[in-house]
Amino acid sequence: QFDLRGKKVFVAGHRGLAGSAIVRRLACEDCEIVTADRQQLDLRRQLAVEEFIAKTRPHAVFLAAGLVGGIHANATYPAQFILENLQIVTNVIQSAYDYRVDKLLYLGSSCIYPKHAPQPMSENMLLTGLLEPTNEPYAVAKIAGIKLCESFRRQYGADFISVMPTNLYGPGDNYHRQNSHVPAALIRRFHEAKLANEPQVVVWGTGSPRREFLAVDDLADACVFLMKHYSDIGFLNVGTGQDVTIGEFARVVADVVGYTNELRFDTSRPDGAPQKLLDVSRLTALGWRSKISLRDGLAAAYADFLAGGARHID
Ligand code: GDP
Repeated sequence: QFDLRGKKVFVAGHRGLAGSAIVRRLACEDCEIVTADRQQLDLRRQLAVEEFIAKTRPHAVFLAAGLVGGIHANATYPAQFILENLQIVTNVIQSAYDYRVDKLLYLGSSCIYPKHAPQPMSENMLLTGLLEPTNEPYAVAKIAGIKLCESFRRQYGADFISVMPTNLYGPGDNYHRQNSHVPAALIRRFHEAKLANEPQVVVWGTGSPRREFLAVDDLADACVFLMKHYSDIGFLNVGTGQDVTIGEFARVVADVVGYTNELRFDTSRPDGAPQKLLDVSRLTALGWRSKISLRDGLAAAYADFLAGGARHID
């Protein structure tokens, strides 16, 4: 049991999808939230991170920072995806240890699992097979982060834990035309098609890959829950335990956005992994489950998009 009351909590990556949701969720806790903008703190620089942690001395850290992107971004910027994510995780974990942070929660990703892992994927599927090539560099950096947390616990007794969220969506997502993940990409494309009354909208791939989608405010709630109640060497999956096909998902997004015309599946675009569904039985056994339905979560994401809370980067 880790008590957040009265604690100083550093959220690394507070402008990102997950980090901003963690900040929202922490507002309900009696703790002091510490954040740093990119101009103030470049997490890729070891000395800068060390100086920041030395100066602020947080009791707890949520490590939600990292370079993220969809299937296209991963394929286009592999060097940046592996390097920057490794830099961030080594810098933050080392400084957290050196300055005796009491507890650290690291956010990984479900793409750490092998491409052909049996579904749903349980935590012990890690490193049992080849990764999906389109995001292998990113996944290798994320796996290194898990192993850093595990190793610091094993060697030094540091209370560092890792959680592996499934595909996330929600307020604060990145709506870049090419580099976004599928929820943000489709919200934007359907919205623009609705305004222009286009007869047809393109959805990448065949529409048959299966994906699990978790509302980011559910993830943030799980992270706070685990920060308080989980302290062990194994990392934990966080998801809903249910998946949908990309085709089904696209139709729910279209519905929420109010786009009523046709969908066209562009099979010249990559599908990525055939299925990604997490086994969340370890998490549910601890007493946490997701609460936000896909439709409600997408409605919240779309409202945020309309309010301009999202980042539109071209
Ligand atoms: P992944 O889960 O790592 O494969 O990452 P993505 O979120 O980028 O893609 C998920 C699935 O959605 C893949 O099968 C994509 O082909 C499909 N997809 C359909 N339309 C889009 C789109 O506009 N953007 C993205 N990124 N993916 C799309």
